[in-house]
Amino acid sequence: MMKQPVLYIVVPCYNEEEVLPRTSGLFLDEIRELSGRGKISPDSRVLFVDDGSRDGTWRIICDLAARDEHYLGIRQSRNRGHQNAVFAGLMEAKDSCDISISIDCDGQDDIHAMEAMVDAYHDGCEIVYGVRTSRATDTAFKRLSAESFYKLLRFMGVDVVYNHADYRLMSRRALEELAKFREVNLYLRGMAPLIGFKSTSVGYERHERLAGKSHYPLGKMLALAFDGISSMSIKPMRMIAGAGVFFFLLSLIGIVWSVATALCGHAVPGWASTACIVLLMGGIQSLFMGVIGEYVGKIYLEVKDRPRYIISEKTPRSSGQMEGKNGH
Ligand code: UDP
Ligand code: MG
Repeated sequence: MMKQPVLYIVVPCYNEEEVLPRTSGLFLDEIRELSGRGKISPDSRVLFVDDGSRDGTWRIICDLAARDEHYLGIRQSRNRGHQNAVFAGLMEAKDSCDISISIDCDGQDDIHAMEAMVDAYHDGCEIVYGVRTSRATDTAFKRLSAESFYKLLRFMGVDVVYNHADYRLMSRRALEELAKFREVNLYLRGMAPLIGFKSTSVGYERHERLAGKSHYPLGKMLALAFDGISSMSIKPMRMIAGAGVFFFLLSLIGIVWSVATALCGHAVPGWASTACIVLLMGGIQSLFMGVIGEYVGKIYLEVKDRPRYIISEKTPRSSGQMEGKNGH
């Protein structure tokens, strides 16, 4: 019989002391169930990534790790955000696992979809996207904003899987390729499709949070949307370049027109029109400069090549040494 793959379930946690005691057991049950059916190795693990929580999350993780060897934990030195936490976990898992599945810790994503993901891996897929089949539990506003977000990303030329968040299986091979992506601005759901390889999707129902509250209010959601576009696509720059050409042509026509008017002797003291043009051009230019500035800012962050995560603590049984394991 084929050697069963070692699965690492990578779970980012930020201030989740309310929900972690309720969901941690579910991950372990799933590992037991899948290994019982011979689909994964009994040496599979649940790897919690504490994203610099300020509450008792790390203590809970340490307790879990002390109680059962299937639980592992790493802790980021400070809060770096969901994407960096998932990335840190995947990179930590990379050398020990055959497959990884990233999933939120709040029980919103249906854990039972993991079986179908693992089956797809056995069929030769290197990446399996968890895709929500319905958004019935989301508010109408969240549904609408999320759906327009995917449409906008598509329009901007970012290849994203519709209704896929960060519930995803990645094989070790895919993780090794992901590690080669050098960008500091992480947008994992836009990066995974760029890795390529055989991939597929698995549908699942998204539930309500079991406890605690969302860390993604509207402001953060908009920031993620804008980050997604400007990290993955240069279409906004192309669009403003196109608009720049258009306005340049328009201004040429305007110049010809005003010179002709002056030559014909119809020119009047045109304060209003001058002011309008100046204001219009000023407005357009500052808007465009802003968009360009956003990219310059990104370049600035990228050239600094800072570590993308810094691990400050690990539960005793986690693999590897602390030295040299940080974020590159
Ligand atoms: N999370 C994180 N760092 C953060 C914010 C969130 O690691 O700065 C984790 C959080 O613990 C959860 C996942 O990311 O496991 C998704 O967050 P949340 O459930 O708050 O977002 P929502 O599901 O409402 O979009
Ligand atoms: Mg959630």
